[in-house]
Amino acid sequence: VSDVLVLCYHAVSPVWPAVLSVTPERLEAQLAFLVARGWRGVTFHEAVVRPPRGRVLAVTFDDAYHSVFERSWPVLRRLGLPGTVFVPTAQVNRWAPLRWPGIERWSAGPHAAELTPMSWDDLGELAACGWEIGSHTRTHAWLPRLDDAELYRELVDSREAITTRLGEPCRSIAYPYGAVDGRVAAAAAAAGYTAGAALSAGCLLRQATLRWPRVGVYHRDGAVRFAAKASVGMRRVRAAPAMARRSWT
Ligand SMILES: [Zn+2]
Repeated sequence: VSDVLVLCYHAVSPVWPAVLSVTPERLEAQLAFLVARGWRGVTFHEAVVRPPRGRVLAVTFDDAYHSVFERSWPVLRRLGLPGTVFVPTAQVNRWAPLRWPGIERWSAGPHAAELTPMSWDDLGELAACGWEIGSHTRTHAWLPRLDDAELYRELVDSREAITTRLGEPCRSIAYPYGAVDGRVAAAAAAAGYTAGAALSAGCLLRQATLRWPRVGVYHRDGAVRFAAKASVGMRRVRAAPAMARRSWT
């Protein structure tokens, strides 16, 4: 029997006060807490499709912020954990800040550099060290709103970009904003994905491979709240409809 915990982080910064950013110290404390309790790290795909027995932890990062390469990779390496990065493929390697509704308020001002994406070289280096690189669509689109042709392009083009750039199969996707419905999940399967990452909200009562619930970890999560979020009971509560809420990253 496996107990699977999938965490969803975004950026890692000692100074950025955004909801989606955690400090390197907190990231390390949170993950060390789980490792000390016997959680064993695997990639997202492995956690969902063929989890080993026991407590299985996948640490995922959405959006491919450069800060993940710079500040979280050393933390995960020290703890012996592989990571998974979900990449909006049309947004990386442009030497321009990541940009979509929800983060654009940070694109000017003192924290603008936090929106710098990883390059394909960065992603290739992580992949060579055992990280999984998955799709976060092409443009970070809200998928349920797209028509079939646009949806297909977001899913297929991003998967092909990763396969071509990194020379390895891309098998997992994280839906931007956690936004997924039955049509989107079916399209992801048709596009060749075998694992899909959502967030713990709304209708995610069970763990389905193409709509896998993740626990989002945010700026204000201190030790007590993190431990509660990561506990099995809390994950069940958070997956119930009464706790439904929208995430915006
Ligand atoms: Zn995102």
